[in-house]
Amino acid sequence: MSIKQTICPRCGKPSEEGLCGPCRLHEIEWVTVEPRVKTIMCSTCGSRKVGSTWSDCPVDREVLGRSLVIDGIRFHPDIKDPAVEMEIRELSSNRSQAYITLSGECYGIPKTGKYKTLIIWGKEQCDRCCRISGSYYEGIIQVRADGRRPTEWENRRSAEIAYQAEDDAQQGGDRLSFISSLDVSKDGVDIVVSSLGFGQSIVNYLSSYFGAKSTSHPKLMGEKEGRKLYRVTWSIRLPRIVRGDIIERAGSYCQVTGSDGTTLRTRDLISSSPRSFREDETVRVIGNIRDAEQAMVTHREGLTLGILDPKTSIPLEIAAPKGCLTQAGGAVSIFRDGDMIIVVGY
Ligand SMILES: [Zn+2]
Ligand SMILES: [Zn+2]
Repeated sequence: MSIKQTICPRCGKPSEEGLCGPCRLHEIEWVTVEPRVKTIMCSTCGSRKVGSTWSDCPVDREVLGRSLVIDGIRFHPDIKDPAVEMEIRELSSNRSQAYITLSGECYGIPKTGKYKTLIIWGKEQCDRCCRISGSYYEGIIQVRADGRRPTEWENRRSAEIAYQAEDDAQQGGDRLSFISSLDVSKDGVDIVVSSLGFGQSIVNYLSSYFGAKSTSHPKLMGEKEGRKLYRVTWSIRLPRIVRGDIIERAGSYCQVTGSDGTTLRTRDLISSSPRSFREDETVRVIGNIRDAEQAMVTHREGLTLGILDPKTSIPLEIAAPKGCLTQAGGAVSIFRDGDMIIVVGY
């Protein structure tokens, strides 16, 4: 039986190889801890600045504080099973104190120690809040309708689409894309946007959603660092006739099923058959299927439906469209054109 044993050259105690554990431990710093760490947050929105770049900070102060303190702790690479325990106490709105207990094992010797790190919460206004508070903008999108006023529904959808684009941009990290203001009036919607690229993307969404035409009018505002600065007014024209519209042409009523801007695709509301024709002045818009009313069917004789007028409760007789099988006790969707009542759904 042979045991390999050497002597520590420093202290003379037995060691496995070269310096013994306690003497090697004496040579190194087993851990270093930053006494102060600092971060800069936006006092308005809580964004965080790292270097010269701002980004949205989705974690809370406690979690961020812990990670800042942990980033300032360096264990020597020979430390095994390093462990950190931490308690953070708020000292003031811009100071927190972290009390840290560190432990690990080094050359077979357990180590533990208590440390403190001061967290400094710097406050500045971020790039986005600066622009928002300065009412900064680069473009205006005006949503209008061709030969009519936009409906409440079109106004609401325009606003929803714009706000959705803002959410998408912000979530995609595009911090400087925001809606500076959004106004809905009888004439339509005005959307004021912070950047040209963001404005163009909203214009693209709206144009494709509504099948609308758009034009843009850039205006030179000056120059900054050799770059020309423009403000752009976009004008979006919602089509006069849209899908779902109930129209009258040459005495017959149709529901619009589609449009390419020149030709309307429709369904005749009496024969139920498809019909296509040019969109021109002879086409009169009565309303949209969304605004249809429900009427009770009281009796039926062949292609004649007896209904109760939902507004007046007066019994009326109207023509049933081809394919309508609704019987007494059922209900149909109707639309009014003056005194005329047309069945638009069954
Ligand atoms: Zn030794
Ligand atoms: Zn901010």
